[in-house]
Amino acid sequence: MKTIMVDMDDVITYGKFTQILEDYLGYKPNYKSLKGYYVQDLLKEKKDDFFQKFKDMNMYDGARLLPNCYDVLKKLSEVYEIYICTDYIWREIIEYAGNNLKNKYDFLYHKLDFLDPRNFIFSYHKSLIQCDIKIDDKIEHLSGAKQKLLFTAYHNKNMSEEKLKEENVIRVNNWKEIERLLLTKEK
Ligand SMILES: [Mg+2]
Repeated sequence: MKTIMVDMDDVITYGKFTQILEDYLGYKPNYKSLKGYYVQDLLKEKKDDFFQKFKDMNMYDGARLLPNCYDVLKKLSEVYEIYICTDYIWREIIEYAGNNLKNKYDFLYHKLDFLDPRNFIFSYHKSLIQCDIKIDDKIEHLSGAKQKLLFTAYHNKNMSEEKLKEENVIRVNNWKEIERLLLTKEK
């Protein structure tokens, strides 16, 4: 059986971080004008205050799976060995990141009930893992795979076709595209 490693954030679910952040800020930021990767950089001097409140929140409580994610992953799990690999470290409040790990585990356990929880991997160092296929919204996390699928997100949408070709990466915009790519061609 071929192996697939799937990222969690921005691939399986968007979580509720953006909503929590917007509630705190009291406005909806213009994400398009954002230069860096991290939305939380918008907080500036309010960062410490925000994270003191945030550390006890569960950003997966009430979060949804992306459209078609459940059905496609379930079908994939019949022909591939599926691993979910996700980072859980909050860089701003590293000592409380264990809360996030638990919240992530609970979300995956309940929402993807057909997967073996032993296949959940909680680590930032995804490149250490060798898999046939990797699906992630960060290109650097695709290394170590024979087939690399970049899931479209606001921070990678401007990556050029040339760059993707160079890196041997295929862009996918949604779970239906993943289904077409992985379930109709080869198994
Ligand atoms: Mg991600």
